[in-house]
Amino acid sequence: MNIRIAVTGAAGRMGKMLIEAIANASGAQLTAAIERPDSGLIGADAGEIAGIGKLGVPLVGDIEQVLDQFDVLIDFTAPAATQLNAQICARAGNKIVVGTTGFTPEQKAAVISSSGTTAVCMASNFSTGVNLCFKLLELAAQVLGDDVDIEIYEAHHRHKVDAPSGTALSMGEVVASTLGRNLKEVAVYGREGQTGVRPQKAIGFATVRAGDIVGDHTVMFAAEGERVEITHKASSRMAFARGAVRAACWLAGKDKGLFDMQDVLGLK
Ligand code: NAD
Repeated sequence: MNIRIAVTGAAGRMGKMLIEAIANASGAQLTAAIERPDSGLIGADAGEIAGIGKLGVPLVGDIEQVLDQFDVLIDFTAPAATQLNAQICARAGNKIVVGTTGFTPEQKAAVISSSGTTAVCMASNFSTGVNLCFKLLELAAQVLGDDVDIEIYEAHHRHKVDAPSGTALSMGEVVASTLGRNLKEVAVYGREGQTGVRPQKAIGFATVRAGDIVGDHTVMFAAEGERVEITHKASSRMAFARGAVRAACWLAGKDKGLFDMQDVLGLK
């Protein structure tokens, strides 16, 4: 039987990709699509919005209307909307894949608390390649240790509203925790003016916002005489959408708990 999947933010950049990815996935089916109640597209066909032809799934403006029509929600919207959707899903027993980024610590804690009653898969980046990079970063940090300066560079399109990207922060977390550092204490976000010499244990972040860049991330481990760079470049949002659909199908088999893409890919 197909896993019944709903998409919130269905008319957004990621929403449209998700609709296409679900249509192309075996064992999954789009059964509901949700947008903001004030969207001019309410009632339109989700497949037509995604540009893949009619699917017979009309956009609705209220998730409560369709709660009994799906097993797993995929939510790539905005922090406040995702927080509310996670609460609603937890109450109704629906599972949720959370792709939204830019949460405050309080919002993130609220979403995570839903995993006490339902299954939640949350990742700042659902691409398989980035999740492989997380594993490679752990290895690089283990081998190179405190002998190297660590700097993280990320670039995204001009519409992105949060910085550094959730993925860059996750990369920083992986490296910091492998080296026994607290990212909050060692992170340096951008530099300007008389910065002084670089603190040895700093983890620096640099952000670029330009054009239609889908998502570039590089972590540099630089020593005297050599440096290692681990780079991932996404060329299409389909990389995230396919990963999120894979996560939704995997999550359908879980009862409750908090998971991430490393769990889905068996990298833990
Ligand atoms: P977008 O602005 O194109 O789309 C967001 C959509 O959500 C819009 O259509 C908006 O109308 C809708 N929306 C907002 N509030 C809503 C509500 N209450 N109910 C229903 N729909 C609502 O943005 P995007 O580029 O698609 O990105 C969305 C989010 O996903 C961002 O936080 C982005 O950082 C994140 N993202 C995560 C990954 C990942 O792999 N985790 C990848 C890409 C983007």
